[in-house]
Amino acid sequence: MAAFTADVTGYMAATVFYSLVTALVVEALIRIWAIHRPSTRFKFRLLVLFLPLLYWPAFLLTYPQRQGDVFRHGTALLDLKQWLDLPVAGTMPFRYGLLLLLASTTLLFLAQELAPTLRTLLARRHRQERRRLEKRQHPGLHAALAEVSQKMGRPAPQVLAANRQAPAVYIAGAANPTLVISSHLLEALDGNELRGVLAHELAHLRRRDSWWGWVLLVIRVLMFYNPVALLVSRQLVQDNEQACDDVAVSATGQPLAFAAGLIKAFQAEKPESPAKAQGRSGDLRSRASAMYDHASLSTVKRRAARLLNPPPIEDSPYENIRLVVVSSMLAVLLFFVA
Ligand SMILES: [Zn+2]
Repeated sequence: MAAFTADVTGYMAATVFYSLVTALVVEALIRIWAIHRPSTRFKFRLLVLFLPLLYWPAFLLTYPQRQGDVFRHGTALLDLKQWLDLPVAGTMPFRYGLLLLLASTTLLFLAQELAPTLRTLLARRHRQERRRLEKRQHPGLHAALAEVSQKMGRPAPQVLAANRQAPAVYIAGAANPTLVISSHLLEALDGNELRGVLAHELAHLRRRDSWWGWVLLVIRVLMFYNPVALLVSRQLVQDNEQACDDVAVSATGQPLAFAAGLIKAFQAEKPESPAKAQGRSGDLRSRASAMYDHASLSTVKRRAARLLNPPPIEDSPYENIRLVVVSSMLAVLLFFVA
């Protein structure tokens, strides 16, 4: 049992370390190569989630001796096992400090990511909460959707009306995606703002983000304990949103209207202000959600600011070659961390 626990801790420590090294290398390269395009940053940051999951079993299968003391003490650049047993603050091994960090990350993941995701998925399953929006009910919406779809060269999806409590605008379903929008939001947006918001949602469709959402959820569940994966997955969500923002602006040519639509869509999703939610009751959940609202508001504001003052976006040359080279170099480096 003790050996098994040590093996599990060793596996967790190794994958967290692999993620950390990959994240440091990737963030440094994003700066050195001045990668401003969100879709390219997204691909590079995905390595932080994929490589540890891929490399650890690959190393084990191709070279089992890597786990032995001969490799650890002789060939390896870094022996993580030795580090885990290293005493810090007197007699407590480093292993316990690491376990505390992994346990805290697990709690954060369950409370802030898995629980809200499952709640949203369950709520979206209740299809009776939505009804089909017919053309005659909202001719403006259908005209705007037809115009934006044509500009983006793809068929317009079916549109459903969401009730007010549900998120204001989103793409539902992976196999047969539909656009869900609340009438509350439709009333709040003018024509240009609506076109921007619709183009953003169609960009999610084009990028197949419903499928990516499932892939990322599985990876996050597999790495529930990994603090680096927790931080990077949040960056990935932002990169993805910004990639869709850029598509929306290039399709409509109206960054100002889209930024206004974005802020209105966020406010329509949250009828209560964070301050009001905070004052309502002192329990932990409402405080946590007020904090979460505040974080979301600041990211929406950052996205709007980026739309009004866009960074210089140039084509990154040899994007896929760079990805392969970086992944291969990391494989060589991480092989010698056992
Ligand atoms: Zn979005």
